[in-house]
Amino acid sequence: MPPLRNNMTDRLYYHDSFLHEFEGEITEVVPAVEINGRHGVYLDRTAFYPTSGGQVYDTGWIAPTGYSEKLRVVEVAETEDGRVVHYIEADKAPQRGTRVRGLIDPARRRDHIQQHSGQHVLSAAFIRLFNMPTVSFHMGEEVCSIDLDAPTLTEAQVKEAEALANEIVQENRPVEIKFVTQAAAQEMGLRKPPRTDKDELRLINIRDFDLSACGGTHVQNTGQIGCILLRKTERVRQGWRIEFVCGQRAVATARRDYTTLTEAAALFSGHIWDVPQHMRKLLEDVRSATKGNERLLDELAEAQASRLLAETVAENGRKLIVRTFKGRDLTFVRLLAQKLTRLESNVVVFLASTSEQPSLVFAQSKGMPFDMGALVKETLAKLGGRGGGSKDFAQGGVPTAEGLEAALEELPRRLRA
Ligand SMILES: [Zn+2]
Repeated sequence: MPPLRNNMTDRLYYHDSFLHEFEGEITEVVPAVEINGRHGVYLDRTAFYPTSGGQVYDTGWIAPTGYSEKLRVVEVAETEDGRVVHYIEADKAPQRGTRVRGLIDPARRRDHIQQHSGQHVLSAAFIRLFNMPTVSFHMGEEVCSIDLDAPTLTEAQVKEAEALANEIVQENRPVEIKFVTQAAAQEMGLRKPPRTDKDELRLINIRDFDLSACGGTHVQNTGQIGCILLRKTERVRQGWRIEFVCGQRAVATARRDYTTLTEAAALFSGHIWDVPQHMRKLLEDVRSATKGNERLLDELAEAQASRLLAETVAENGRKLIVRTFKGRDLTFVRLLAQKLTRLESNVVVFLASTSEQPSLVFAQSKGMPFDMGALVKETLAKLGGRGGGSKDFAQGGVPTAEGLEAALEELPRRLRA
């Protein structure tokens, strides 16, 4: 059914973004059974902002006449026929025709006003400075973002736009709401051509800085935005995405950053500004310590391999070495197996580690006749592990060290058979 124009909700926020209380009448109620657990309440007039144009909904309360309690408004949306639906959580929904008092959550509204108005200023700054149009706006729970249609974006440009935007905030310029016809708007030079076929447009005019068509809630003066803080920038398909926060959100974000940095700086007993320098130094130290450790392990494996080979007497022309290590990990055991089978040409080794991740490594010198891959697979089948490898070198992991040593001890007999 086509919408009737006189059916549309009278939107009080169109004229006053700071109206937090209003009176109206319920025109329709859609019970919770029809819409996932929430009653849908329609009013003849409302100051609640429904999600649209990148700005998210208000929350608050509806106090129906004759009710002892206020009903919580948890979400507000726009319907296709131009009405506003208030979703409430209540055991029993109020009746059609009931007079109500609406109360907007003022902290949430102010936050949205600051983010949304800040976006107008920021988008205008990018146009004025670099002719980069904003193609989309997103208001998130923590950060907001705009997408700029621009092939490149430098850090210097970001800083310049941030500086200009904050100058406009500090100049406390008036922000006016105007209702004009489409034709009149065409001549006024809007920042972005509106995508609507409505006869009348609602314009938001930041004096001598920005004029755009918008149905959202805004500040009365730019000073109420507080400040505009630009954050992460990233390449997106259409251009560049810039994250930003305004007003109290910017203060909260800066506070959080400071707490994080202070925590990091305390680890180095330094100033927060020196954190990157300390981090770089620490990473260098870690890298060089890791290298040193690798070198030492290599030397240790080499020495241990030489000693093991010297102690082992060859039988039938080959040296067979079976060892289980408690305090050595797979990396070391692998290294040791490599050394043992390369230092001499007649060696077969069955090694295991019973460390946190129990594992085994079987290897033989090049040219020896056995199949280590097959032996590992066979042993793992008994122990319930996974792994494999080539004829000369194979490894695997087992869920527990239990039975590992005994399984290894059996292997020399297999070779003799
Ligand atoms: Zn707006």
